[in-house]
Amino acid sequence: MPVALIAGNWKMNGVSADLDEARALARALAEAPAAARVALCPPATLVERMAAALAGSAVLVGGQDCHAERAGAFTGDVSAQMLTDAGARLVIVGHSERRAAYGESDAAVAAKALAAVAAGLEPIICVGETLAEREAGKALARVAEQIRGSVPAGLGSAPFAVAYEPVWAIGTGLTPTLEAIEAVHAAVRQTLVEVLGEAGARAPILYGGSVKPSNAAEILAAAEVGGALVGGASLKAADFLPIVRAARA
Ligand code: PEP
Repeated sequence: MPVALIAGNWKMNGVSADLDEARALARALAEAPAAARVALCPPATLVERMAAALAGSAVLVGGQDCHAERAGAFTGDVSAQMLTDAGARLVIVGHSERRAAYGESDAAVAAKALAAVAAGLEPIICVGETLAEREAGKALARVAEQIRGSVPAGLGSAPFAVAYEPVWAIGTGLTPTLEAIEAVHAAVRQTLVEVLGEAGARAPILYGGSVKPSNAAEILAAAEVGGALVGGASLKAADFLPIVRAARA
């Protein structure tokens, strides 16, 4: 099993003063190193300052999205190269909030993942079923379909991760049963191997959706769970640190 990855997604939260939370996390991990790789993905405005604040620490910085093109007339967008230039090492692509609010298709997400890898970033490619899809018994098929469409075969041997985030579990306090998480993670692994061969057998598969200090240990110990993508509970070091500590080597 690769080292687990615990990544925090700050979404559209955070101004300069909140960098203190990132510094507090880095200080705690300097005193007692984590068994996992740790990353924070702040809004684009904070990527460069967070990377500077965390330079030399164990905490990596990531973006929350990138455009598929290197540069051009795309007002408001940020390219993967810009994130790398600002000090990011990872980038989330295909988060369900972007798929829902901006109509991002699997093909668009795959193009972003390729752009990320070309820029030297490790993409965290998000997939996950809606409540209606789960209730219709289509969760496994939906997630497998998203993997086939969003994880490009052209990734080669570049490092990447997949995050399984059931849409209905994000920000709701609800989580699937451990059995349900394991069933989807097994399907993700099988589909990754189908798409990528050996590289698909190695990539960490993160779980995301209402991970908190009280449920992190059992989720992270589930079969094929290679880390977590954490939203709300990543904003404060006091909440995020116990989740990071719940990851075992
Ligand atoms: C997320 O936004 O990726 C997420 C998992 O959010 P939360 O942890 O708040 O459910």
